[in-house]
Amino acid sequence: THFGFSTVAESAKASRVGAVFSSVASSYDTMNDLMSLGIHRLWKDHFVRSLNPGIRPAFAPSGEPRGQKILDVAGGTGDIALRHLDHATNINRDSHTSVIISDINPDMLAEGQKRFKQSPYNRDGRVSFLEANAEDIHTIESNSIDLYTVAFGIRNFTHKDKALREAFRVLKPGGVFACLEFTPNLSNPVLNAIYKRWSFAAIPLIGQIVAADRDSYQYLVESIERFPTQREFMGMIKEAGFLIPGERGDGQEHVGWEDLSAGIAAIHKGVKP
Ligand code: SAM
Repeated sequence: THFGFSTVAESAKASRVGAVFSSVASSYDTMNDLMSLGIHRLWKDHFVRSLNPGIRPAFAPSGEPRGQKILDVAGGTGDIALRHLDHATNINRDSHTSVIISDINPDMLAEGQKRFKQSPYNRDGRVSFLEANAEDIHTIESNSIDLYTVAFGIRNFTHKDKALREAFRVLKPGGVFACLEFTPNLSNPVLNAIYKRWSFAAIPLIGQIVAADRDSYQYLVESIERFPTQREFMGMIKEAGFLIPGERGDGQEHVGWEDLSAGIAAIHKGVKP
């Protein structure tokens, strides 16, 4: 900080993250399946189901169609956005809810655009794309978003606190922040040891074989190690102004997050008061 070292380190981190995602963009979906043995799909399904996107009934008493405005940050190839739209449409019969997919990386967004090109959601104007750093989404109006989601994105952000404050700003009062992310440690030490061996040995190796890119996948594993624990991250969400659903008023008992698959990943939520 005194000599500008942090600025150099931070911009190095941002460009490192940029290079990683540009390099993995085209193989990203296949790699996710291989590395997580397909489990990331189940986590994402569960994440979106737990948020129940879309409005029921999808029409106001006056007959005016209603829908939610969802912002999926670090949305990459659109995995979460597609699930939001499918859930709203098929489960809640809401054909008005729309999603903005925002991401800092144009190559990841381009993969998302490809995926939605032929989709009716695209024809109906229910999906849009925004190239932006999650730490500064000033093109999105304050108090305009019903649901903000970020999946496997926030651990890459240089200033997570800034991104959380932006999430708070853009959400409407009553709006929900929801994050799906890896955790640095599993609570069971034996499982943790096995899992660490798997991730540190296998993931860079799969990256090397499948995507010819060991370094990017090495970075991904290391970024998981550095992410705060579930409790620390819950504290950061509170710090940004959110209320934590499930937390008791006296602060004695916390059910402030949901662990998935023995705590390999976790879901955190916050509500803007
Ligand atoms: N959400 C998608 C999913 O679950 O499949 C993509 C997750 S991918 C592991 C992480 C994404 O975060 C990448 O697309 C990357 O470009 C994006 N990203 C990294 N830093 C970012 C930042 N500061 N602002 C916005 N997006 C960022």
